[in-house]
Amino acid sequence: MRADGIETARRILCVFPRYTSSFGTFEYAYPLTDGVQAFMPPQGLLLIAAYLPENWPVRFVDENLRPATKEDFEWAEAVFVSGMHIQRQQMNDICRRAHAFDLAVAIGGPSVSACPDYYPSFDYLHVGELGDATNDLIARLARDPSRPEQQVVLKTADRLPMTEFPLPAYEMAEMSKYFLGSIQYSSGCPYQCEFCDIPGLYGRNPRLKSPEQIIAELDKLRECGVTGSVYFVDDNFIGNRKAALDLLPHLIEWQKRTGYVMRLACEATLNIAKRPEILEKMREAFFVTVFCGIETPDPDALKAMHKDHNMMVPILEGINTINSYGMEVVSGIIMGLDTDKPETGDALLQFVEDSQIPLLTINLLQALPKTPLWDRLEREGRLVNDDDGRDSNVEFLLPYNQVVDSWRKCMEVAYKPEKLFARYQYQCDYTYSQRIKVPVSPEQKSWANIKRGLIMLKNIFWKVGVFGDYRRVFWKFALGRLRHGDIEGLIASSLLAHHLIMFARAASVGQQNASNYSIRLREASVPAE
Ligand code: SF4
Repeated sequence: MRADGIETARRILCVFPRYTSSFGTFEYAYPLTDGVQAFMPPQGLLLIAAYLPENWPVRFVDENLRPATKEDFEWAEAVFVSGMHIQRQQMNDICRRAHAFDLAVAIGGPSVSACPDYYPSFDYLHVGELGDATNDLIARLARDPSRPEQQVVLKTADRLPMTEFPLPAYEMAEMSKYFLGSIQYSSGCPYQCEFCDIPGLYGRNPRLKSPEQIIAELDKLRECGVTGSVYFVDDNFIGNRKAALDLLPHLIEWQKRTGYVMRLACEATLNIAKRPEILEKMREAFFVTVFCGIETPDPDALKAMHKDHNMMVPILEGINTINSYGMEVVSGIIMGLDTDKPETGDALLQFVEDSQIPLLTINLLQALPKTPLWDRLEREGRLVNDDDGRDSNVEFLLPYNQVVDSWRKCMEVAYKPEKLFARYQYQCDYTYSQRIKVPVSPEQKSWANIKRGLIMLKNIFWKVGVFGDYRRVFWKFALGRLRHGDIEGLIASSLLAHHLIMFARAASVGQQNASNYSIRLREASVPAE
């Protein structure tokens, strides 16, 4: 549904702030593609764009693709911005630019919902999810689009049920410029891991869309040209297991109907390994990747962070089980925990070897506002300012430099080309081989898709296979894939591997942040607030 009953039309410019270099956005892979420039289309802003009254003209600009221009600001009557903490500087910069045109600027999304005080310059703060605050904001702008004299804070008390969410305005985004498509079925997570802000922001009882909505969204994504991978951005795909089981038959049916046009991925807790009935259906629906927040292989650490559910099956056994259903595990890892010891880095590297997981996002612990971790560290006087050269706002129990050095060493060793490609080879042999055999979809057979593949192959062969300094390791892997006729697998693994190798090299010499949340190296790229 849309906001309705509003007669006066307003022109709204929705601007999504730029990301800068980050492990999780894969930008080192972009030059090997056919023109990808950004990670995923922003769900939240595209949802708001779709929710605005039908007669309101909306313009959407993702600054990862192009900056909002003078002409955009001159066209608009008000500006909407949304983003995460790491985009804080960029969001404040968009506000500053919009104010230069005397436009009212509203901010919503996860960062302002957790920390309204990060955004003193905005005219409207939209705190919380889509709901009565959104309707209030629309009504105020309809009455008067000029900047209010004082900042107005609108808090959602009554959330719009997700079953009433409109289809995100995917048609406004240039979908071919994104690395992955994205979709959301649920919001919230029943667990309460100490460091995580999801339960505080979105609740412990996951809210849901209907399977029919998801099918309609997939149809729309397909109409908008998405044919590759689509990521379920749900905080925990099995946060409500019954809901996952309700959705999966619809996904299977859709994939069969469309010729398995999409490869699906999601985030889920590791205890999914105890649910063969879910895993089997995920295999049939062609889920190929599951991101699991493993965080640490140390059971004491998992207990201390209230992530006991990761121990419902032995971790390596859980990973093997998921792999046996054809799904590669991507793992989140945290270093700098209170339970860490001097030998934690070595134990982590051993875990990387044992698990054969190619892609692990290894981050330093960062305390996010509105989390139990934040509250505890505040009580203990261990929150520190990360604005001045630190990679984390946590006073670790081990010396800071020791933790950062250990992180750098882990990045360097885990992503040595020969080690990384060996792990991808393992996945080819033991995981990808367990996937269902899917037909070649009409989209895949299309000339546009073949051309896309050829461009990527050319880039990979030229930039990695000819000029890359790890070309020997690359060719060993690539020739194996070519012998199996697995061009798609070759392209996918090579793109990811290139990003991981390049990012890890930069990280190991201190040119990348040790936390996805740290803005240390991100500040320089935009004017100061
Ligand atoms: S399981 Fe994941 S989403 Fe849920 S609280 Fe823990 S870290 Fe957050």
